[in-house]
Amino acid sequence: MKTYICPICGYDGLDAPPYEIHSHSASYDICPCCYFEYGYSEDHEVDLGYIVTPVDMREAAFQLYRKQWIEKGAVVGSPENYPKEFQEDGKVKQETVLKQLNRLNLPLDNLTFLEEYDI
Ligand SMILES: [Zn+2]
Repeated sequence: MKTYICPICGYDGLDAPPYEIHSHSASYDICPCCYFEYGYSEDHEVDLGYIVTPVDMREAAFQLYRKQWIEKGAVVGSPENYPKEFQEDGKVKQETVLKQLNRLNLPLDNLTFLEEYDI
């Protein structure tokens, strides 16, 4: 079965694409890993000073959410729907977090908040 990658945490296990490429419409699914709800979290859980985050601001919302998620310890949003082998004490294993983030090809200067990690 084809899976899709979460643009926030890099988890490769979504059943549906989080956003349609052309229409930008969101799936309103929730990532079992970082618990971001596509189409909701960027507008309601990230304070960018907008009521509805414009499409071109989504990446900024993703970055903020990603940063907060990691700073809080990369807690697994839905442990029963996320592979057990990637979890440890309710959190995503450090090596798995790094593997997932690598998948997103993030610019390295966005990863300064990973300094506490041993990389
Ligand atoms: Zn995610």
